[in-house]
Amino acid sequence: MKKRGDSRDVDRRRKYVSRLQDLPDWKERRQLPPANHAWPTCLIIAPSSVVGNWEREFETWGYFEVGSYVGPQRKRVLNDFKLGRLDVVITSRTTAARDIELLNYLPWSIIIVDEVHYLKNPKSRTTESYHTLNPSAVRFGLTGTAIQNSYTELWTILDWCYPGCAGTPRQWKGYVTRPLLLGQSASASDEEKVQAQMVSSILVNKLLPRYFLRRTKDLIKQQLPQKTDEVVFCPLTMKQIEVYRRLISSDDVKNMICRDERCDCGSRKKRKECCYPWDKGVLFKYMSALIKISNHLALILPAPRDTPEQTMRNRELTDLVFPKGETPVYGTASLEPKFCGKWMILKKFLAEWRLDPSNKVLIFTKSVKLLDILDFYLRKEHYKLERLDGSMNQADRMPAVDRFNNNPSINIFLISTTAGGTGLNLTSANKVVIFDPNWNPAHDLQAMDRAYRFGQTRDVSVYRLLGAGSIEELIYARQIYKQQQMRIGYEASVQTRYFEGIQDDKARQGELFGLENIFKLHEDSLATKMAIEKADLANLAWALQNMEGKSNKRKGPDNKRKSASSQQEYDVDVDIGGLDEFLLDDALPKERIDMQKALKDYGVKYTHRNDDILKPNRIEEKRIQAAVKERKRASRHKAKDKVKDKDLDEGTWVTKLKRHHHKAPPRPEVRLQSRQEALVELGMIRNPAEISTFAKAFASKSESEQAEILAKLDAWRPEYDE
Ligand SMILES: [Zn+2]
Repeated sequence: MKKRGDSRDVDRRRKYVSRLQDLPDWKERRQLPPANHAWPTCLIIAPSSVVGNWEREFETWGYFEVGSYVGPQRKRVLNDFKLGRLDVVITSRTTAARDIELLNYLPWSIIIVDEVHYLKNPKSRTTESYHTLNPSAVRFGLTGTAIQNSYTELWTILDWCYPGCAGTPRQWKGYVTRPLLLGQSASASDEEKVQAQMVSSILVNKLLPRYFLRRTKDLIKQQLPQKTDEVVFCPLTMKQIEVYRRLISSDDVKNMICRDERCDCGSRKKRKECCYPWDKGVLFKYMSALIKISNHLALILPAPRDTPEQTMRNRELTDLVFPKGETPVYGTASLEPKFCGKWMILKKFLAEWRLDPSNKVLIFTKSVKLLDILDFYLRKEHYKLERLDGSMNQADRMPAVDRFNNNPSINIFLISTTAGGTGLNLTSANKVVIFDPNWNPAHDLQAMDRAYRFGQTRDVSVYRLLGAGSIEELIYARQIYKQQQMRIGYEASVQTRYFEGIQDDKARQGELFGLENIFKLHEDSLATKMAIEKADLANLAWALQNMEGKSNKRKGPDNKRKSASSQQEYDVDVDIGGLDEFLLDDALPKERIDMQKALKDYGVKYTHRNDDILKPNRIEEKRIQAAVKERKRASRHKAKDKVKDKDLDEGTWVTKLKRHHHKAPPRPEVRLQSRQEALVELGMIRNPAEISTFAKAFASKSESEQAEILAKLDAWRPEYDE
């Protein structure tokens, strides 16, 4: 904005203001001339909570004349702007929406909407009104999540910033959303995969670079220590399972699941339109009850401080799931650790972390009741802790934060996510526990960022606790699905296809979407683990069938001898721990393996790192490449066939065939079988359970490492090399 940062700015401003007032526009209509490059102006629309932050940043980083168009001094700010005294006007969303008529006609050079993703609904009144903002201004939208729930959100943002650039909503859906969603399914056909890959690569390489500037935390990665995000699947206790099961077999739930079946009264109508009507209220009631049960059984009991409606709702629920006269009392139930599988795990974590007094732990929960319960458990185990919830005065918060940061004997900070999820600086902590993860991962990320931010000097480990097999696991699976969408939409990343389900497709809901899945309890099957393993295994099988093995060492006559020695290398006596390391070394650091073992000792059945799940998948890439090749070959053959029909030019075929000197590779089935045998014979897999571990490790290897492993397998059976 042509600032120099000294008195020249002031002089220039003074001249500008007086010149403005000499213009006929101003004299006659009190109107500003349109903004131009000599004197650009800017309107910023931000959430009201950060208007102050914006103002402060301008003070820190530049020499701008800034006015905040909020509160009672609004009129004066607008007047100052009209007099040419301001470069920048900052306002809140609500004020902007209300005063859009006043702001609209002013001469803005650029308009910036902060947190622009809240315009995600193209039909909302706010989105529509923002579309009327001075169309000659250049528009910028800032957001951390351009794709949160669906690709449509990306369209809405693009369409606001550059009206029309992304076509109509219908075109976007047909050309972008649908192919990408189809291609993401585990049951996608080759054709669908190829299509999706083409669409995402056009999106990422052609469209987005013109309109979209992306900055990730990777930029400041070097300045921050490491963060690991471990998702811990905590088994529910017997009591939790019992109650959970009773709830999902209730009549209400059955009615919801069978809503589209014919009614049993003989009316030939659907149940939901006849004798068994239901509404979203029932759905939410049961979903929230299931989430509560997954966290602590006491949460569904009527509690002393409940409102009358809450008491009524809870009484209704407990009558349903506890036999008459056996409903526990909230007071005693909340103290009962057997009602909380997650606490059983967390307790062991804390005991372990306590051994090193430098460990400091943040524990976040959304529920105030849970906060009280954890508070009680922790004090019973003689932990010294600080606590922050909504009832705490603003004035008391900073001292509590300081005590936690500075007092070495206080190792735990118990925080309500709603009260302390933003704003706090808790960089003395190196462990973060998200006790009851939010359905929206952005909230949990904000909580993690209390510790993982500038000023943090230690590595931060985050643990998200999930009730294994429960609705929480399903919610998490959908989060993975959405995170994968983001990677596909932003980076054209080839993701592993874990899930069959397709968003917004009633006919193909798979394991992710639809009511049936919400009301399932996977008691022992570890659904997420299974989905991940299944995808890894499918990829391994494909790789064993189709990928070429290549040894890094020169191919030569000593091939055979090498194969003998590599056989010794994998002799049956090889310690399985060492083998793990061979397979896992570069993907997973040693400490991670110990961690896995420790978690198993704690009774955790399964855990994984969220990052690992979202890595681009090289085998999937290869599969798509192969499918593209196959498609090209098919169309070439078609063309050839045509030529052949015309000219009967068979001669070219014969000569072409003659040029193949090397032997054709063995048929895929043969190769698969031989390599599978080699896996066992070489001791890379020693029992059926290990194949999943191998598949996971194999998937995370580099291309050349994969080729080398395959070469070793092929060398064991040298028949088809000769
Ligand atoms: Zn009926």
